[in-house]
Amino acid sequence: MHKIVIIGAGFAGLSAAKKLSKCGLDLDIVIFDKKEDTDFLPLIPDAVGRGLGPELLTYRIQALLGKKVRFIKEEVISIDLEAKQVYTVGSSYTYDFLLISSGSQTNFFGNQNAQDYAYALNSVNDVKVIINALRDNKFDNFIICGGGYTGIEAATNLWLLFRNNGFTGRVVIVERTPGILGPLPLWMKIYVRDNLKSMGIEVLLNSVIENIQSNRVAVSGGRVFERAMLIWVPGVRTADFIQKLAVEKNPQGRIVVDECLTFKQDCFCAGDAAFFVKGNNPLRMAVQFSIAEGAQTADNIIRSIKKLPLNKFRPRDLGFIIPMANNKSCGSVFGLNLKGFSPTLLHFLMCIYRSSGLRNKIGLAGNLLKACCLSIDRPAGRQGGTKC
Ligand SMILES: Cc1cc2nc3c(=O)[nH]c(=O)nc-3n(C[C@H](O)[C@H](O)[C@H](O)COP(=O)(O)OP(=O)(O)OC[C@H]3O[C@@H](n4cnc5c(N)ncnc54)[C@H](O)[C@@H]3O)c2cc1C
Repeated sequence: MHKIVIIGAGFAGLSAAKKLSKCGLDLDIVIFDKKEDTDFLPLIPDAVGRGLGPELLTYRIQALLGKKVRFIKEEVISIDLEAKQVYTVGSSYTYDFLLISSGSQTNFFGNQNAQDYAYALNSVNDVKVIINALRDNKFDNFIICGGGYTGIEAATNLWLLFRNNGFTGRVVIVERTPGILGPLPLWMKIYVRDNLKSMGIEVLLNSVIENIQSNRVAVSGGRVFERAMLIWVPGVRTADFIQKLAVEKNPQGRIVVDECLTFKQDCFCAGDAAFFVKGNNPLRMAVQFSIAEGAQTADNIIRSIKKLPLNKFRPRDLGFIIPMANNKSCGSVFGLNLKGFSPTLLHFLMCIYRSSGLRNKIGLAGNLLKACCLSIDRPAGRQGGTKC
């Protein structure tokens, strides 16, 4: 019986496991995850601003897998690619085929103070930590480090949370480069910039966080924010065990894969952990590609077992959306440029479609409907405490 080890039960790993378990071959499929639950990441900023119940955004991994897949809740700490062994803290497991789909995690870039004092936004647990901290009423300033997708979503959701609670907290995005949203088209950057301005969200470009001391944040150029919550979203990196692997990686530590999503004979990588380049363009980290890569690697594992040539991965890009919590989002979907409420709605519909379980889908639909009604424009609130 062929042994298949999958590391990480996120979008890519689950997509592969489901396909492998239905292929009709006699396989020993094991999937590892360091957590009992998998998180639905695209809606976690909305869990802060729109009050989506975190329980709707986590799913028991075991419940998502059929009987043919064994789930082991252990963190993988290293791999011996020559011996075909995966190591966790207490055990080791052999494999015939390996799929790495361990996603990405917050990158603190070695900044210990950021690690100690800043708030990450990369899991449902991070959302719970942020919401609990907001209840303590100890912040007036909310500094978002990083002007990418997640930074913009975090800032606008904080804005919405404060507005719905009658509080005027100051929200500031600090971005190291001369512009927000990196390589995205200029019209989007301008649209987002103007929208942030209309919400009173300040953007500091060419700026870095220079010092973090508890709830005091100093930004280059001399600005110091007291009673500040620092939300840390400047970038991500891959898991520690990948850092130790002697294979080709990009600067974020993503494993460089070939056109069939392999990085070594019988070794595959999918999702955020994989660095796949189409033409000259690296594929973005996104749910649609993670699911498609997971399915493609499963297909190629099956083909390897049947001694057939591997298929090339041909990603189809449906587009992307930058969701903003005042419902004035923007994006490019099927080649169409969209602005305003329609991309917000599309984002939510896609999230409901991709979420697991009828109970969660209904729960999300109800919450999102309520959330959309709540975020219809109304006057700004008064200055006050951060109790939310
Ligand atoms: C705030 C936020 C908002 C986002 N919004 C969007 C969006 O709107 N649209 C979109 O397309 N994409 C969005 N993304 C990106 C998207 O969520 C990722 O591209 C996608 O989750 C990647 O899927 P994955 O399967 O590679 O990894 P993940 O879904 O992250 O799953 C990886 C799994 O591996 C496990 N793992 C990690 N290390 C180990 C280890 N050592 N041992 C065992 N298990 C391990 C983790 O616990 C996790 O369960 C967003 C991401 C974030 C953080």
